Amino acid sequence: MRMRNKPWAMDFLKENNHIVDVDGSYKNNIKEFFNNDNDIHIEVGTGMGQFITTLAKENPDINFVGIEIEKNVLIRVLEKVLEEGLTNVRLLLYDANLLDEYFNEDEVSKIYLNFSDPWPKNRHEKRRLTYESFLSQYKKILNDNGTLQFKTDNRGLFEYSLISLNQFGTEFLEVNLDLHDEEDEDNIRTEYEEKFSSKGFKIYKIVIQF
Ligand code: SAM
Repeated sequence: MRMRNKPWAMDFLKENNHIVDVDGSYKNNIKEFFNNDNDIHIEVGTGMGQFITTLAKENPDINFVGIEIEKNVLIRVLEKVLEEGLTNVRLLLYDANLLDEYFNEDEVSKIYLNFSDPWPKNRHEKRRLTYESFLSQYKKILNDNGTLQFKTDNRGLFEYSLISLNQFGTEFLEVNLDLHDEEDEDNIRTEYEEKFSSKGFKIYKIVIQF
């Protein structure tokens, strides 16, 4: 997601270091950041944060970590966290490529990937968040009953992810070819989900366990 550069973005994130980790200060120590032992759920590539902030509001006893590589995007999530006064969300300005360096093994109960960049060119396969190197990291940081939930409007990325997850040997708990056909009331829509659904795109969902 591209956003106009905001020169004040980094200062704003740093001023709120009780919510945002901009420099890996809580690497291998996320529990201290939350100061409790609640389960940890993470979203990789939060975008503007509608999904994670709604989920956090509905589940005050779960710790949520929103990971986003773009500072000009992450400030939008921070604004929502502050507006809502959420105490169970922490944000990381971080590249998910190094996820297993940040989290400890078996530390996470759930990972959400929502409308990840599709990277359609073959030569960019390694950047897709369902490429095997990412799956190895998810497997490492998820606990035994941990799940990965993936949603997309992109048919190509959906098919690629099905194959990649299958080749990795994951167990499929759910594969939905049209999530909004009979939308579950507890589905939380992301900003991209609303945009593409309103244009008539089908929304695909996969849930797996390693
Ligand atoms: N999840 C949001 C939604 O559904 O509305 C945003 C979707 S947007 C297409 C993908 C987001 O993932 C962008 O904000 C992008 O900056 C972020 N992203 C892409 N690669 C990433 C990475 N390696 N680590 C962290 N964030 C990443």
